[in-house]
Amino acid sequence: MKVTLLGAARTVTGSCYMIEADGRRFGIDCGMHQGNKDMEKRNWETALYMKPRLDFFLITHAHIDHSGLLPRMWREGFKGPVYCTEPTLDLLRIMLLDSAHIQETDAKWENTKLMRKGSKQLVEPLYTRADAEAAAKLLKPVKLNQPFAPAAGVKVTYRDAGHILGAAFLELQVTEAAGGTSLVFSGDIGRPGALLMNDPDNPRIKPDYLFMESTYGDRDHKSEGSSLQELAEAIEYSYRRRGKIIIPAFAVERTQEVLYSLLQLNQEGKLPQDLPIFVDSPLAIRATEVFLNHPGYLDDDSRAMMKSGITLPNVRFSLTADESRAINTLEGSAVIISASGMCNAGRVRHHLRHNIWDPNSCVVFVGYQGMGTPGRKIVDGAKTITLVGDEVAIKAKIFTINGFSAHAGQSQLMEWVKSFMHPSMQVMLMHGEPQKQQALADLLRERCQLKVQMPDYLEELVLTPGKAPQVQQDAARAHPGINWDVLLGDSEGKLAELRAQLAAFRALPWEEQAELRDSLLEVNARLLSLLAH
Ligand SMILES: [Zn+2]
Ligand SMILES: [Zn+2]
Repeated sequence: MKVTLLGAARTVTGSCYMIEADGRRFGIDCGMHQGNKDMEKRNWETALYMKPRLDFFLITHAHIDHSGLLPRMWREGFKGPVYCTEPTLDLLRIMLLDSAHIQETDAKWENTKLMRKGSKQLVEPLYTRADAEAAAKLLKPVKLNQPFAPAAGVKVTYRDAGHILGAAFLELQVTEAAGGTSLVFSGDIGRPGALLMNDPDNPRIKPDYLFMESTYGDRDHKSEGSSLQELAEAIEYSYRRRGKIIIPAFAVERTQEVLYSLLQLNQEGKLPQDLPIFVDSPLAIRATEVFLNHPGYLDDDSRAMMKSGITLPNVRFSLTADESRAINTLEGSAVIISASGMCNAGRVRHHLRHNIWDPNSCVVFVGYQGMGTPGRKIVDGAKTITLVGDEVAIKAKIFTINGFSAHAGQSQLMEWVKSFMHPSMQVMLMHGEPQKQQALADLLRERCQLKVQMPDYLEELVLTPGKAPQVQQDAARAHPGINWDVLLGDSEGKLAELRAQLAAFRALPWEEQAELRDSLLEVNARLLSLLAH
């Protein structure tokens, strides 16, 4: 059989495995690529996914980096079934629609910019709400722990992965004329002891191959107790200064966990009673309803909390854009929980633009920040950040709380592997940044004597149990070269032309010369930032 890696290879987003076995071809996850422009370009190359055929998808969980390209698949002509658990199905219905809305808004924004510049060539959204609605109709619910056969010779079992509501890892047993292969695809593995979710289950098979996430392959999380304390400190900091407390949070799971934590702080008397708390994300509000509809997938503590009927004082849910805008005119301190968690989309960008320049405010990061995202730049100490077209100085205090993670930390991933490993199991580390994968790979090799690989984007792995995978890669396509010499030659040529035009510039009225000077100053500032690398 052959596994092609269409994403989350040496990076975190875009999870998708394409599996071919005796004429059957199916996908595991169909995630959106997020991060810088080069990463996002991969979202447009979906024709790759379809050829020569595509029978069905198995989706591990509702996060967009595992599911966000499903509407794009519909647009490309895919009409097959998409299997997932019931809560994942309910979450996907709202999340895919929300993602489509973001795509449409981004395209509209981009087109306004293009039209202002007089361009006739406009951009299309990656997909539309109609595509998302149609794709959601392909979803088919499956039950945890009940094996099923989506095609002849393919047996799949979904097991509880913790992580987020409805998340699963998959046991896959594929029978071909040449023999059988068993595999485990981890999806995202949750953190034992996490708020709301059960601890991740263990695989019941001894797989030939394990494809495992490695988001936190290099470290353990801080304890939950200290996270609660850190959240209390952040609130205290801006409450005293009458600044805003902005919490960028994924609408699903993290928002509900933050609310649950605020509830705990309130019970401990650490939450100021006059502090308004805004949940500013229609998606988060709808996701909370899905949580309430599937109590069977929550852990015992959360079910008990839900039954107790305890609520927060001053919590307000803002569904409409007007309600969201009204928050910006509010005097004094407030907690604003808003999506997206990595600040690359959604309403949180507006809240940051309004508050991140204010030293009295603070931004509290409670989740993973992907490479190239605005959130990552802020966490890494950028002095300014571009938000909704404006460059804004970063003067607010930045807090990063790691203990909220929905992902297992390094030792928890190790414990999970130890629960089912055997000497001939081969491990492919996925869904992680290279240095984090390296740390986990070293540990798995040293402590467990396992064979470990870290495959790259667009690699094709031909798997034969008992043998090392044969690897092929289209390197030029995976990492198109950057021709620095040509680019720099181009810049030098343009500067020379500019110098040749100087006499004409000097003859212009002073006001026009001043405008040209400003343009050149901008170019010089850009060059300076390049030189600073
Ligand atoms: Zn996830
Ligand atoms: Zn993920």
